Amino acid sequence: MTLLDQKIALVTGGAQGIGLAIAERFVDEGASVVIVDRDGPAAQAAAAVLVERATASPGPDGPPRAIGLTADVTDPSAVDRAAHDAVDTFGRIDVLVNNAGITRDATMRNMTFDDFRLVLDVHLGGAWLCTKAVAPFMRQHNSGSIVNISSIAGKVGNIGQTNYAAAKAGLIGLSKASAKEFARDGVRVNAIQPGLIRTPMTEAMPQTAWDSKMAEIPMQRAGEPSEVASCALFLASDLSSYVTGSVLEVTGGRYM
Ligand code: NDP
Repeated sequence: MTLLDQKIALVTGGAQGIGLAIAERFVDEGASVVIVDRDGPAAQAAAAVLVERATASPGPDGPPRAIGLTADVTDPSAVDRAAHDAVDTFGRIDVLVNNAGITRDATMRNMTFDDFRLVLDVHLGGAWLCTKAVAPFMRQHNSGSIVNISSIAGKVGNIGQTNYAAAKAGLIGLSKASAKEFARDGVRVNAIQPGLIRTPMTEAMPQTAWDSKMAEIPMQRAGEPSEVASCALFLASDLSSYVTGSVLEVTGGRYM
C-alpha cells in the first residue's frame, strides 16, 4: 500500500521545478495528478512524463493517471474551470498543492506597483482562488489536504523582495486561517517554507546572490526539489493526519 493510493492531487505550477518534483513523488505513491500551469503545452508534457513513470511501476489497481490543464492561477474563471475539469476527469480532489510562483525582484526604490501587485496576485491571490475552488469538493468528502508553498523569505524578508516576501508571509496567514475554517470538515491546511532549492527559478539568479545565500546554510548545500517533495508528501498523506495550520521549514537549517 502506497502513501497516496487512489488519491487525486492537483498541483499548480507543476510543469517544472518543485511542482513537478512533487507531482512525480505523488505519482510514485499511487496518486493520480492534475498539473495546472499557465504554460499548457508544458503542463501536458509534464503529465505525459508522469504517465510514463506511472506505467513503468503500476500499483495493484493499475497505474495512476495524470493530465495537464492550462490555467493562470490569477484568473478566477480559469481556476474554477480547472477544478471542475479535474473533478470531471477523476471524480474528486483529495490534495491541493498551491505551488505556482514567480519573482519580480527589485529594491523598493525601483520596484513598480504593477510588479508588487503581480507577485501578490500569483502567489497569494492564486492560492486563495485555488483553495476557494477546490475546498468545496474536499468538504463534500469530509477529507482533504492543502499544502501551500511559501518561502523562508516570508519569515525573514529579503532585500529586493518586498513583493515576494509579503506574498509568502501572507500565505502563512492564509494557511492558518483556512486551517481553522476547514478543520471541522476534515480538511487540513499546512505550509512549507523552502530555503534555497535548485530549480529554474533559482538557476536564473546572479552568482553573487546564489553565493551569499549558500553562505547562510548550516548544511552547506542547496536543497533539491525532491527534498521539498518528500515534505509535501508527508503533509499530503495520512502520515500527518493530526497536523494542520503548521509551517514546515525546508532550509538546511538556514534562518532556523
Ligand atoms: P519555477 O519557476 O521553476 O516553477 C514555477 C512554475 O509556476 C512554472 O511552471 C511557472 O510557469 C508556473 N507559474 C507561474 N506563474 C503562474 C500562474 N500565474 N499560473 C499558473 N502557473 C504559473 O519555480 P520553483 O519550482 O523554483 O518554485 C515553485 C514554488 O516554490 C514557488 O511558489 C516559489 O516561490 C517557491 N519557492 C522556491 C524556492 C526555490 O529556491 N526554488 C524557495 C522557496 C520557495 P512559467 O514557466 O510559465 O512561468
